[in-house]
Amino acid sequence: MKRIIYLDNNATTAIAPEVYQEMIPYLTELYGNPSSMHTFGGQIRKKIEESRWKVAELLGAQPEEIIFTSCGTESDNTAIMSCLYTNPNKRHIITTKVEHPAVLNLCKWLARRGYRVTFLPVDSLGRLDMDAFYRSLDDDTAVVSIMYANNETGTIFPIKEIGEVLRERKIPFHTDAVQAVGKIPINLRDLPVDMLSLSGHKLHAPKGVGALYVRKGLRFAPYLIGGHQERGRRAGTENVASIIALGKACEIAAKELEGELITISYLRDKLERHLLKACPDSRINGDPENRLPNTTNLSFAYVEGEAILLRLNEHGICASSGSACSSGSLEPSHVLRAMGVPIYAIHGSIRFSLSRYTTEEEIDTVNEIMPKLIKDLREISPFGKRELESCKPSSPSYSTE
Ligand code: PLP
Repeated sequence: MKRIIYLDNNATTAIAPEVYQEMIPYLTELYGNPSSMHTFGGQIRKKIEESRWKVAELLGAQPEEIIFTSCGTESDNTAIMSCLYTNPNKRHIITTKVEHPAVLNLCKWLARRGYRVTFLPVDSLGRLDMDAFYRSLDDDTAVVSIMYANNETGTIFPIKEIGEVLRERKIPFHTDAVQAVGKIPINLRDLPVDMLSLSGHKLHAPKGVGALYVRKGLRFAPYLIGGHQERGRRAGTENVASIIALGKACEIAAKELEGELITISYLRDKLERHLLKACPDSRINGDPENRLPNTTNLSFAYVEGEAILLRLNEHGICASSGSACSSGSLEPSHVLRAMGVPIYAIHGSIRFSLSRYTTEEEIDTVNEIMPKLIKDLREISPFGKRELESCKPSSPSYSTE
């Protein structure tokens, strides 16, 4: 198989070899049901509790505050629906325009069923409009769900500041931290968050496992109803091997995160600096000051993101794009649109997302390939020279170096 340069780690990550090793026995000889009374099942139960402890440790939470789920989407849905069930007289939900569909589409669905939903705007760097946030709060607010970090741009939201306001007003606060956990330090001991979602496959565990942190003392209603698993908070026989894998991935992240953060951001910056310099009419989408260390979202004006992706693909380079169709959706990125990124820049946007496995050699290869690739595409771009001039960007964040 052709060598792959995988720079699409916000979409999913490789399972860490140590994580894979840890889960194998639970896919083969240790197949007991953790709910069984016998010792064969009991040892599995013990291992799940060990895993819960590891997830809690990474977050600065207590093990009883962690519920295992099937994915980030389930965690998000559970959190929001729980707040609505436990506050049946309140009909107002606050979220943002730039959430992942796991939150955004649920909120739109709830709006169609009579809930009042405020979708908070962001500025041109993807930062939350805090004035709009303060204004949106009222006595009818049942839940606020605001992501920790954006999956497309990496922009990090002021979760502590938001949480402090909400705690004062006794409004439940959920944060979708699917892109943040394992990438930046999170300490729930001094973060006023009531619920937090995470997903295994974003931090080198397998797909199909997630977790939801629920602060001790918060009223909670389960989303999946059935058996007594997860202390009655999430029914369904546990995905044992994946839960164990998630625990191992969190253990590794807790140990390695601080160091990785420095290496990964060094590589991200090297990539970004070079591309902005070598490709005229390119820009960063997102907040350069306050971003996930592994993410860069760049726009190359006057070229189609899909065309860039296809050319990159020919070189074995995996990235993703905010333009139409590329992510299975027919719409250009709702995140970049909410930020007011001009449409031609949205169409030429590419997200590179790195991981602990990204090497400097890989970054150097991309840096070598991209400028020529962009130049070639511009030469055959449907934009004629005149059109190109007439839609010159006005945004000051454009690099024209
Ligand atoms: N939230 C964010 C911010 C995400 O990036 C994703 C996945 O891309 C999800 C939620 C959904 O997670 P999962 O794929 O585990 O359902």
